[in-house]
Amino acid sequence: LPSKLPTGKTSIFSVMSSLAREHKAIDLSQGFPNFETDNHLKELVCKAMKDGYNQYPPMNGIPELREQIVSKIENLYGKKYNEASEIVFTAGATQALYCAITAFVHPGDEVIVFKPAYDSYEPDIKLAGGKPVLIELKGKDFKIDWEEVEEKITSKTRMIVINTPHNPTGTVLSKSDMLHLEKLLRDTNIILLSDEVYEHLIFDEEEHQSASKFPGLAERAIVCASFGKTFHNTGWKMGYCVAPEVLMKEIIKFHQATVFCVNHPMQRAFAEYLKNPDHYLSLGNFYQEKRDKFLELMQGSKFKGTPSKGTYFQVMNYSEITDEHDVDFAKRLITEYGLATIPVSVFHKDGKDHKQLRFCFAKTDETLEKAAEILHKL
Ligand code: PMP
Ligand code: GLN
Repeated sequence: LPSKLPTGKTSIFSVMSSLAREHKAIDLSQGFPNFETDNHLKELVCKAMKDGYNQYPPMNGIPELREQIVSKIENLYGKKYNEASEIVFTAGATQALYCAITAFVHPGDEVIVFKPAYDSYEPDIKLAGGKPVLIELKGKDFKIDWEEVEEKITSKTRMIVINTPHNPTGTVLSKSDMLHLEKLLRDTNIILLSDEVYEHLIFDEEEHQSASKFPGLAERAIVCASFGKTFHNTGWKMGYCVAPEVLMKEIIKFHQATVFCVNHPMQRAFAEYLKNPDHYLSLGNFYQEKRDKFLELMQGSKFKGTPSKGTYFQVMNYSEITDEHDVDFAKRLITEYGLATIPVSVFHKDGKDHKQLRFCFAKTDETLEKAAEILHKL
């Protein structure tokens, strides 16, 4: 049968996680914490189940959770979304991204994606018949060259995808970046897809620049978020997106056709848990300490990198050790040293190898110590 995604491959995250399991390796590859989600949150889920919230919730989510999120966004970013018509809960941010892309990208449309990029955007664009237009982030700080973006915008450009804080580089977009983008998109019909799943994982006094904060962006933006990243439960696959009503109306059609609605008891639990803002506002400091711990442990090793400013990833260069391709080196690290990482080439245009590995530092101190001990042997 002809494949609808002939270039689709098993994601590097699955490949590395299963190799890590097979070799019982210390796993700093796929992005997930190896510590537990809050017991109180688990109890709230159990309570919701016991209280009988076990049937379909409303398609776009329960009103209590919609209200919580809408007021959280208003408090943090000053933008008030309509809780009835401008938000939908999804099976992780992945489903929100999928619905957003398939709802608006028509065959032949161009979608600008910055590389390196998270691996779900391009397949979604191709499935919709669209053409990813890839623009490289520039320099060691992975900056967007806005002049190049302006040059690449054509009458066919339907959408631009941004991701801040950025997976895998750990860089963040600045206010000036967002203002540039706002100016560039003025008087166009281009939709902005803003992947903000790491919005609370931001360090060194940086402020998250949500697309919601900028009126000229918010009016055309679909902003995606993930509870998995924020509340240490990636396996629950809970997320959402917000967008102006005219866009959300279309997204909802795809949500309805793909899952219809998502986990009811978890929505009940989050609606309660989110009443305490400390549960997400403390996250930046928490992960900054993890990052600092990891970088301190790596001092004196042959791995070199610029400290991550957000996400729970740290990219490091290994060219002092070997000139092997990063995929080969990452596999050898698992099989010979018992340590799993992600080769950064998989995020790059044409899989270009920059001799870099991505380390997930959302791990217990003990795991980070064991990992560093191994890495110092190289
Ligand atoms: N976007 C980015 C940049 C990610 O790193 C991830 C998670 N790995 C997702 C989206 C998907 O999030 P979720 O697990 O909530 O589907
Ligand atoms: N976002 C996670 C990462 O970058 C992986 C999620 C997935 O495997 N789809 O590691």
